[in-house]
Amino acid sequence: MTNIVKQNTNIDNLSKIDKEYFIHPTTVPKDFIENGPKIIFSEGKGIRVKDVNGNEYIDGVSMLWNVNLGYGQKELADAAYEQLNRLPYCSSFYGYSNENAIRLAEKVVSVAPGDLSAVFFTSGGSESNETAFKLVRHYWDMKGLSDKKKIISLKRGYHGATISTGSATGIIGFHNFSGSKDMDILHAKPHLTNCELGDKTAPDYDESIRSMIEKTGADQIAAVIMEPVQGAGGVHVPPEGYLQAVKKLCEENNILFIADEVICGFGRTGKMFGVENWDVVPDVMCVAKGITSGYAQLGAVLLNKEIRDTLVQYDQILGHGFTYSGHPTACAVGLATLDFLEKNNILQNVNEMEKELKKGFKYLEENHRHLAKTRAVGLLAGFELMQDPDTETPFEQSIRAARYVVDHCFDNKLILRAADFEHQVNIVAIAPPLIINKQEVEEIINIVDDALTSFEKTL
Ligand code: PMP
Repeated sequence: MTNIVKQNTNIDNLSKIDKEYFIHPTTVPKDFIENGPKIIFSEGKGIRVKDVNGNEYIDGVSMLWNVNLGYGQKELADAAYEQLNRLPYCSSFYGYSNENAIRLAEKVVSVAPGDLSAVFFTSGGSESNETAFKLVRHYWDMKGLSDKKKIISLKRGYHGATISTGSATGIIGFHNFSGSKDMDILHAKPHLTNCELGDKTAPDYDESIRSMIEKTGADQIAAVIMEPVQGAGGVHVPPEGYLQAVKKLCEENNILFIADEVICGFGRTGKMFGVENWDVVPDVMCVAKGITSGYAQLGAVLLNKEIRDTLVQYDQILGHGFTYSGHPTACAVGLATLDFLEKNNILQNVNEMEKELKKGFKYLEENHRHLAKTRAVGLLAGFELMQDPDTETPFEQSIRAARYVVDHCFDNKLILRAADFEHQVNIVAIAPPLIINKQEVEEIINIVDDALTSFEKTL
């Protein structure tokens, strides 16, 4: 296989080989077989990536919300190179350890909020959430509360692609695939602040977390999981007071609160972690993506002191772990990433660029009447397209507004992402690398401006 690719460097051939041999994730296989790859990436620098034809694109979504420090960061590459030469891999099973994993565990705990005190390493976000589900259930077992197995997640949330994390994911498309389901997962309607605070007269009460706890019984529920800001589901920012209300509800009912910080973590929202925007300290916090800025595969689960102190009393083998838990090269990149974030004041840049992005949104709102609900928490941003934003009337299903705008931007060398899983919902997500500057934000806004103008002409 390697030989075939090496022999055929010409692009048509690469496409042909791709169609033949490579099954792509989250892609329509039938379309792919007909059309081949949309783009074959080859290199990147700063916020830009190039394809094999030499075209240059602004990466307006940090690829999969993960390349937070942009491309070509030598410190990160050097950290990996050095470790690969010294000791590319070693195990963390059976009490084996390595200095990078040890130091990264300490470092991550030092920047985490509250009493999050210890780290379990994984290779990515799904593994982190899957690990969290297993560890919280195990924690309740150790407390003698073995009935506490159920996990409540939110509709529109994304938590991963394994059977349990895919079940926790509240985006319907991900449930059509394969039919497997973790029956211990319940889905609540997101962001019902009043209900979580106890307003039983609210029309949506039955779908709220509070109602689910009442119906199911807190003695059956292990944890509630949510993203501080929902990402893949369409950049949904919780209303003020929501996260605090859910955390309080969990405390009152002896239920653990898991924050899925896979997108929000490590500066994306302008704070080190998303929950810090609302002063909430989770019991368990799952991270991945930004921990290495996508330069290596790594995730982690942080546990509060009580859970950590309980788990370490277990006197049998902890039957959970991945070959790449505590991977020394990935952890070297993690250390370099955290170092880079601090040395280059990245959080400050995110806060400044959030303001620039919001200025751009204001300009777009003044000039495009179908633009609605712009939002940005740090550099996790998005907007919606509606027939009538004043009355929140959506476009007809046949008008694929978000798709049109994202495709138009792509043709003009800006990569964005459409979140249009739900019926008649047209959301465009923007989440550029955190190193972006003012002029680059303006470039993004200009390309979106053109795309919106072009879209309006089609109506
Ligand atoms: N949680 C969230 C919030 C995510 O956005 C993602 C990935 N987009 C995951 C979990 C799953 O991470 P991974 O794809 O690394 O398994």
